[in-house]
Order: sequence, then C-alpha cells, then structure tokens
Amino acid sequence: LLEMSHVEKYFGDLHVLKDINLKVTKGEVLVIIGPSGSGKSTLCRTINRLETIDSGTITIDGVPLPEEGKQLTKLRAEVGMVFQSFNLFSHKTILDNVTLAPRKVRGLSKAAAEKEAMELLARVGVDSQANKLPAQLSGGQQQRVAIARSLAMHPKVMLFDEPTSALDPEMINEVLDVMVDLAKQGMTMIVVTHEMGFARQAANRVVFMADGEILEDGTPEEFFTHTKTDRAKDFLSKIL
Ligand code: ATP
Ligand code: MG
Repeated sequence: LLEMSHVEKYFGDLHVLKDINLKVTKGEVLVIIGPSGSGKSTLCRTINRLETIDSGTITIDGVPLPEEGKQLTKLRAEVGMVFQSFNLFSHKTILDNVTLAPRKVRGLSKAAAEKEAMELLARVGVDSQANKLPAQLSGGQQQRVAIARSLAMHPKVMLFDEPTSALDPEMINEVLDVMVDLAKQGMTMIVVTHEMGFARQAANRVVFMADGEILEDGTPEEFFTHTKTDRAKDFLSKIL
C-alpha cells in the first residue's frame, strides 16, 4: 500500500532522514519508536506531504505522492493523521469538526455527513458530546474525536504521531483502546508511540529509528526479545 524508497530529507545542514526504505502492506500495523529527534515525526509528515523530501520516492498503491492542487487534497484524505495535539477547530462543535471535511472534500450532503459522523463518534465512544465545543471535552475525548474526524475521510492509512503523549495517564487507555479496535478491524496504521504495551498488543511490525536511520525493522517478538542493535537495547533499557 505504501512504499518509501531511498528517502532522504535535510533541514538545512541537518540530515534528518537517511536512506529510508519502508513498505507497509494493507492491514499492517507498524509502530515506530526511537529517541527524541530521531526523525519519527518528520518521516510521518513526509507521507502526507506536510514535509517535502530531497530525494527518493514515496508511493501509495504504486502512485507517487502528488505535488499540489486537487490531488494533494485527495492524498490528505487518503492518509489520515492524528497528532499529539488534537488540532480540533475550537469554535466549532464536535459534530461540525467531523462533518466539515467530508462535506467539502467528499461532497457529502449535510444530512449524510452527520449520519456518518454520528456513527463514527459512537464507534469512538463520544457520540453524546456531538453538540459540545472541543474545550468542553477531556483530552482523551478530544483525541477520540480527532480519530473519528480522520476516519470520516475514509483513509487508506492512518498515521498517529504520539497520540497519547499529551494526555493525562488515566485517559491514555481510552485512546489506545480505540486504536487497538481500529487495528483489529484491519485499518492500515503507522503509529509513533512510546506505549510499548500497544506495540506488543497491536503491532505487526516495529521499526526502531535513531539519528534519521532505520536501525531495526521486525516483528514485536524479534524487536523486544531479540533486539539486534546496541542503540535499540539502550533505548529499551531506559523506557521499559
Ligand atoms: P520526538 O520524539 O521528540 O518527537 P522525532 O523523532 O519526532 O522526535 P523529528 O521531529 O522528526 O524527531 O525531528 C528530527 C530532527 O529534525 C530534530 O533534530 C529536529 O530538531 C529537526 N527538525 C524537525 N522539524 C524541523 C524544521 N521544521 N526545521 C528544522 N529542523 C527541524
Ligand atoms: Mg516527534
């Protein structure tokens, strides 16, 4: 579904992505871990072209990422992204937040968009909050709305960049549970997280990055019990 081949990215003199080669197949759940500054967020952001790349190729279903215009809007719909900060429109209701893009980009009627939005909000357990403003919800609820909002675009793949790291501890699991359900339902997912429980439970694959390079790429079992590189062993010893 997604293929990155020899991807290189610089920020000025800083080489942030070094020869990244990554294939993600349909239904796969890939967890990316690694120390701060290793390039995890940048990698995610290149996939929906929030960042450009300096060389290499990224394709989705064999088609290179579009540069601009309508095709780029379509790409952003196909590649859902959930960030650490929830990025909801603060002056719009939860329901409006979820229906806005489907109406604009997918061309759904208000009624059709609202029907689907309510189903998605129910799926993530916040349908009773539909008419409230984001600030009236807890962080965990807002993040679940952000997930519903991405799903409303019928993405082919969902990117999660540390979706629980801004949440109070008691709200982390309610968001992880929604993500585990999505994974079970066959959604293709790329998840940057420090939640090793999620990696063990839901990932098919774990990628370890350091200094812009992919140092390990394997099953959770391989990664956690047969860690190859000293860099990854050192990282795991600090967070486990
Ligand atoms: P964290 O775990 O802290 O989120 P990360 O692995 O996501 O880290 P990135 O955010 O991808 O790391 O950053 C990789 C490197 O690129 C860092 O050194 C960072 O300072 C730098 N960087 C990120 N974005 C920019 C930018 N827009 N301009 C310049 N440098 C940047
Ligand atoms: Mg990051």
